[in-house]
Amino acid sequence: MTSPFAALQRQLGPGKVLLSPAERGNYRFDGIQFGVRPLAVVLPETVEDVVAAVRAAKAAGIPVVGRGAASGLSGGAVPLQPSLVVSFTRMTGLTIHPERREAVAQAGVVTLSISDAARPHGLVYPPDPASFRTSTIGGNLGENAGGPLCFKYGVTGDYVLGVEMVDTDGEVHRLGRDAYDLTGLLIGSEGTLGLMTEATVRLVPPAKYSRTLQASFTSVEACAAAVSAAVSAGAVPAKMEFMDGACIGAVEDYLGLGLPREAAALMLVDTDGDDPAQVEAEMQLVEAAFLAAGGQVRRAETETEAAALWQARRSVSPALGRIRPLRMNEDIAVPRSRLPQVVAEIRALGEEYGLPLVQFGHIGDGNLHPNILYDPRSDDPAQVHELAHRIALVALQHGGVLSGEHGIGSMKREFMADAVDPVTAEAYWAVKDALDPDGRLNPDKLLPPRPTHLEDSHVHS
Ligand SMILES: Cc1cc2nc3c(=O)[nH]c(=O)nc-3n(C[C@H](O)[C@H](O)[C@H](O)COP(=O)(O)OP(=O)(O)OC[C@H]3O[C@@H](n4cnc5c(N)ncnc54)[C@H](O)[C@@H]3O)c2cc1C
Repeated sequence: MTSPFAALQRQLGPGKVLLSPAERGNYRFDGIQFGVRPLAVVLPETVEDVVAAVRAAKAAGIPVVGRGAASGLSGGAVPLQPSLVVSFTRMTGLTIHPERREAVAQAGVVTLSISDAARPHGLVYPPDPASFRTSTIGGNLGENAGGPLCFKYGVTGDYVLGVEMVDTDGEVHRLGRDAYDLTGLLIGSEGTLGLMTEATVRLVPPAKYSRTLQASFTSVEACAAAVSAAVSAGAVPAKMEFMDGACIGAVEDYLGLGLPREAAALMLVDTDGDDPAQVEAEMQLVEAAFLAAGGQVRRAETETEAAALWQARRSVSPALGRIRPLRMNEDIAVPRSRLPQVVAEIRALGEEYGLPLVQFGHIGDGNLHPNILYDPRSDDPAQVHELAHRIALVALQHGGVLSGEHGIGSMKREFMADAVDPVTAEAYWAVKDALDPDGRLNPDKLLPPRPTHLEDSHVHS
């Protein structure tokens, strides 16, 4: 049977439209979540290619799914119905404007490349998802990505000055933040309102000095109290990362770094700034708060020592892969004051279900990643799913949200009905229907189910 996208393949030229089943098959998963094989995959090199792809999908009445590096892991970039996937990895144009302290990056630019290109000009791009060696700026905008630095420096949305986007009809818009903040609306919309082809982002001079500290605690309560005390004392650390006892054990089994296995919580903290005395004074505030809470503190004296301390945090992902081949990566964010109860309740849930579960995250923002580790050959996927749902409910019960940074995607979409009240759900759908009336932009993602009365009006309009 001829593909509805054969004409697009001829129009865009060789290598830009993948139609063979084997090539398309590579785009049905994101490393954790599986969907269906797309009908076609487009690898655009220009905004005109994106326009042509979106128009072809519209003519065929087929959904369009945007895809960066597929590191979101919540299924956002994975089609759930036969779709056209637009994979941005070849749109890597990047221009640094040092005089304006701005970078203009096409959607497929890898996050870290922006700072790499800006640094010779004395500038950096602060948003730093831990995946910044692979994730793309388009995907970062799609998820409003954060990272270890976000407690002090903010998230992707804080640095975006404008975007170029292609709407569901294949029209190109250049959006700033002048009238209605349509740029802000697109940030975090997970490809459900338009495809972003380019972003203009703000650059800043990097901090000149930093100090690093590692601290272990015998209870999560003590750890959370220490973090709150440090913040209340006026410290605004650049990074504040947390690992629970199970996570410490996993990393220790993997690398044997000499981490305290008996500890219930491990913290990694960086302070930074341009005045070394101030950076040191801020670290002393943190250290004093941590010691007062009973923490065991280790300071890094050199950059090499600092890198060694951070190795524990950087090794979490590979360490987990050795325990079970797959993991369900939750991404809740809760008020910092609730972290002790939340961590304890989630740990108890893991024990109840008999599944290995570790917790780590950007504790400064209350962003926690409970990871359920499982093997589909021996563990029941329905149990894993149920446990994920109960973890989501714990976050909501403590006044939290379902996603701090990885997005809702398809993984947490059904939990959104618990998170969003009907009036807000209606407002979300009003926006979606206004910008994507045919519902072809990344369907089945992010939004709670459409309220029933809107379903009626949508069908009849
Ligand atoms: C080891 C690891 C560590 C991580 N650490 C962090 C972290 O610290 N902070 C954090 O925030 N995230 C983190 N993540 C999650 C992930 O890297 C981020 O969410 C990242 O922003 C996704 O970028 P991507 O290019 O992979 O996007 P994808 O996963 O490909 O896509 C993400 C979403 O954006 C949409 N999208 C992609 N490109 C476009 C576009 N051009 N226009 C419109 N929509 C688009 C997709 O449809 C999808 O819904 C981590 C992931 C891994 C694997």
